[in-house]
Amino acid sequence: MGNILCGVDIGGTKLSVALTTLDGVIIDKCIDCDHVEKSECGMTDQIKFNIRRMLKRNNLTESDLCGIGIGCAGHIRFRDGTIITTSNLKGYKGYPLRNTIQQGFSVPVTLDNDANAQAFGEFKFGAGRGFNNMVFLTISTGIGAGIIIDSKLYRGMTGTAGEFGHTIIEPESELVCTCGNRGCLMACACGMALPHLFRKKLKEGKRSSLELPENFDYSLVDGKLLKQGLDIGDALSKEIILDSARYVGIGIYNIFQALNPQLIVLGGGLLSWGEFYVDHIRKTFYDLARDMIFDPVEIKISDIGPDAGVIGAASLNLEIC
Ligand SMILES: [Zn+2]
Repeated sequence: MGNILCGVDIGGTKLSVALTTLDGVIIDKCIDCDHVEKSECGMTDQIKFNIRRMLKRNNLTESDLCGIGIGCAGHIRFRDGTIITTSNLKGYKGYPLRNTIQQGFSVPVTLDNDANAQAFGEFKFGAGRGFNNMVFLTISTGIGAGIIIDSKLYRGMTGTAGEFGHTIIEPESELVCTCGNRGCLMACACGMALPHLFRKKLKEGKRSSLELPENFDYSLVDGKLLKQGLDIGDALSKEIILDSARYVGIGIYNIFQALNPQLIVLGGGLLSWGEFYVDHIRKTFYDLARDMIFDPVEIKISDIGPDAGVIGAASLNLEIC
């Protein structure tokens, strides 16, 4: 068994493949942005080709690999390595991705949901080192999560445990989630909610000091725009960020009551809102949990950085090595 980890992160815009050390340090990495237009077969060939090319240019062979870990957004049936659904890629329903990649290699291939992979990466190499029970939450356009219990990824029956983004926090909400339900945590709290929340506050008569053009398309309101608003002290942007933080804080409180973890690690694009955001998440959580915390619970920010997806995928190999 080799001592190099291979990680593959299949996202909506990028396909990343990396080789890392056993400590999760990247040795080499390549990124493609055209994988979404390819057929299932085209993309799997691309992954196999990239792995082989990277091994070759680093004077390595397959025998140097510990294994290949793949993280993919969507519902993954872990036991047989199939994609149940993924919104990032067309097709792929029921696609046996793990076995298709496995056919090209003799080292073990693991396929998991991308948030599970990132959770395990945080546990092994990041903010979760030294903790046995933790939950990782990534907050971007949607919300994904992964659960570590007794130092192991907890996947549940199918492999879809940790879909906290679809826990319902406002059943009467006018915000409909990608799953079709109203008031899911991710429908209310993260990137997909921002255009609606911004328009709603304008309709209520609130004014933004962001100087947006008259014909501005409000469906383009995103985390970056609200960060600009936060930086110039725009009250409307701040209100939306605080609302999001409150919902995430409630979500974490619910997770705490269900799982009693020592640590919650936060990652994802909306963390660019910084301490203003995270402080309010913490405040909401600690206010709700109050005297029901009997041992210290920490809420930390991911410290793996922009390569968290592919490093997380690589870390999946350490589950079996
Ligand atoms: Zn939902």
